[in-house]
Amino acid sequence: MVVELISVGTELLLGNIVNTNTQFLAEKCALLGLTMYHQVTVGDNHDRLAEVIRTALKRSDVIILTGGLGPTEDDLTKEVCAEVMGFPLVEDKHTRERIEEYFRNNIYKVISDNNWKQAIVPAGCIVLDNDNGTAPGLILEKYGKSAILLPGPPNELYPLFMNQVYPYLQKLQPEVIRSQMVKVCGIGESQVEDKLLDLIDKQQNPTIATYAKTGEVHIRVTAKAATEEEAKKLVKPVVKEIKNRFGDCVYSTKEEETLEQAVVKLLKKYELTVTTAESCTGGLLAGRIINVPGASEVYNEGFITYSNKAKRKYLDVSKSTLKKYGAVSEQTAREMATGGVFATDSDACVAVTGLAGPDGGSEEKPVGLVYIATYMKDKVNVQKYQFKGNRAKIREQAVVKGLDLLRR
Ligand code: ATP
Ligand code: MG
Repeated sequence: MVVELISVGTELLLGNIVNTNTQFLAEKCALLGLTMYHQVTVGDNHDRLAEVIRTALKRSDVIILTGGLGPTEDDLTKEVCAEVMGFPLVEDKHTRERIEEYFRNNIYKVISDNNWKQAIVPAGCIVLDNDNGTAPGLILEKYGKSAILLPGPPNELYPLFMNQVYPYLQKLQPEVIRSQMVKVCGIGESQVEDKLLDLIDKQQNPTIATYAKTGEVHIRVTAKAATEEEAKKLVKPVVKEIKNRFGDCVYSTKEEETLEQAVVKLLKKYELTVTTAESCTGGLLAGRIINVPGASEVYNEGFITYSNKAKRKYLDVSKSTLKKYGAVSEQTAREMATGGVFATDSDACVAVTGLAGPDGGSEEKPVGLVYIATYMKDKVNVQKYQFKGNRAKIREQAVVKGLDLLRR
């Protein structure tokens, strides 16, 4: 089943607002296993909107329109859609009563003549009650096609969609969709794709899709089948194969699990405490760890040692090391990690020192050069990286690598 999204609103074309509704709906449609080839944005203009709807109805089974359901003159979606699909407009008594009730409960809002316009609906359509506004959602069905009209404000759209449209689409789509995620770290997206090339080439059911995030790649395996059991059976061997291919680069196969959650889980499992000694990441690494609920079991304290003075004072990095090799060096990273463990009596430490830029780089030590040291089981492991991007990107990549090294 092919679904198409149409966003209505001149403010979208002007870039006054970000089209978050499309992102939300596209993600949910993908979860439902619907096929999507087109997303269109059109202004509040009768003729162009009519043309967009006509085209969409030709090439898609379900069209979802958002915005332009309000009470003002420029809100045209319902009228134009009804016109194109040949539905007369009639007053819906139930919606009129709901509008009256809505205004009774909102003493700060004043009802205007325009508001009654929202009780007018295409005859015979499905009306979806909107608990957060006056414009109901509408579903127009004709010739085996559905047009789903939803209000633009996200606080109205999201609950309406999840509670009423999602189950409607589920019923239209007879197959069951199951997907599983494999999350990998420490390997780039193109390398991931290379390793999956043969699987991706012959994919049909299940399909394999990769998504790159900073320092990570998420691989989604999705299968369609008549029953949940069958879909799961299709997904399982492919996930197993992918896990085999990526070995310890895989940090999770759970949709919601983040890298830092996987790290904290692992540290808990082995009953290890960790500390952080950060220079260029300035607490970001500690922040990611502490974001995980229950991090207190594995994390007690950490250091932001940005200056050389601080590295010496808190982590006991030697003066001669700093002088001879500089703050951004393998030796300094090593001493930071060791110093972190001794200063806190933790089992492990991750230390980061690097050049986040934009200034301060040299030929020998360019911007983006980062050393990350991990102290674990009385051994220190130091890795050298050359990251690309702006200051924020370099720091973010260093954090991801730091977390990744901790779990290995
Ligand atoms: P209203 O009754 O508020 O007029 P409406 O259904 O007519 O609702 P629009 O007038 O198109 O919707 O948009 C109202 C507001 O909803 C916009 O100002 C914007 O804040 C938000 N909105 C609309 N479309 C989108 C979108 N695609 N993504 C994010 N927000 C949106
Ligand atoms: Mg409006």
